[in-house]
Amino acid sequence: MNRNYRFGILGWPLEQSLSPLIHQAALADCGLSGEYNLYPVQADPLDTAAIGDLLAEVRSGKLDGLNVTISFKQTVLDYLDELSPAARAIGAVNTIYQQNSLLLGDNTDAPGFLQDLRNLGWLDELGARSSVLILGAGGAARAIVYALLQPGCKLAVASRRQGQAEALIRSIIPQFQLAVPGTLQACTLQKGFLSEIPHPDLVVNTTPAGMFPGVRQSPWPVDEPFPAHARVYDLIYKPATTCFVEQARGSGLAAASGLGMLVEQALLSFECWTGTRPDKKAIFAALAKSDKKEVDI
Ligand code: NAP
Repeated sequence: MNRNYRFGILGWPLEQSLSPLIHQAALADCGLSGEYNLYPVQADPLDTAAIGDLLAEVRSGKLDGLNVTISFKQTVLDYLDELSPAARAIGAVNTIYQQNSLLLGDNTDAPGFLQDLRNLGWLDELGARSSVLILGAGGAARAIVYALLQPGCKLAVASRRQGQAEALIRSIIPQFQLAVPGTLQACTLQKGFLSEIPHPDLVVNTTPAGMFPGVRQSPWPVDEPFPAHARVYDLIYKPATTCFVEQARGSGLAAASGLGMLVEQALLSFECWTGTRPDKKAIFAALAKSDKKEVDI
């Protein structure tokens, strides 16, 4: 008898999530049957009973895998038995599954981001001497810092609130074996800040500024020129072309948005759960056909 996989995503809000579409396309491409459901759980006040019930379903094998999104990536840590090295270092989980009755948490955002840089042909150019400017110092920034320490990049983290980037760096240095003194620098995201990081090779936006529905926003300070020759990556995938990406392209820079990372992190989760990997082209074809109009791929 054919197995019927059951996956889902825990978060709030979830109506705009592209994950069901991606995972249904992955199941179809691999010739597997199954479903991917939305599990919206209230964050304020935190519905701990709902999280506990959902994770009990993973532990019992009723659910084969769970993704976790804003704002639960850190909340679920307390419910898990084991963490992958990446999830432990980043301090956040986006993929949960069960093995020998143990609940395991992984983080596929970091390798998903690196894979998309590889797909773009940008990763080979980043090495120990490269300098990367990361805008924002929240959960996604931690995954990007972890990812970019692997090729040994020098990183500057810029937060709009003075002290937030310093706090991120202070908290991750003991976690990240790869961080060597001088590799990480903090600064404030404001006009003139580029004088502290004069020639970044890559600029990565990890803030939600510009994300649907606030599509006219950009994290880039007004009247700050873009650094010459940098590549620009925006983690936002909705809209597919953000204001920040448009500004960078308008300054003659190569720029990409986060849809490729979204697909890569999803496929890594799918692989954890099923041991199989679908053809990426099938996923992009399904996204292109979808009626989620903001995805203008
Ligand atoms: P988060 O934990 O809330 O962190 C957001 C960070 O951005 C904080 O440092 C926040 O500072 C800052 N920020 C917010 N609005 C800003 C603005 N207008 N200007 C400058 N800084 C601002 O959120 P997250 O989980 O890191 O997610 C961030 C974004 O990454 C979201 O858009 C999410 O969809 C995207 N993401 C994409 C992927 C993908 O696969 N492509 C994966 C993960 C995340 P304050 O604390 O001062 O607000």
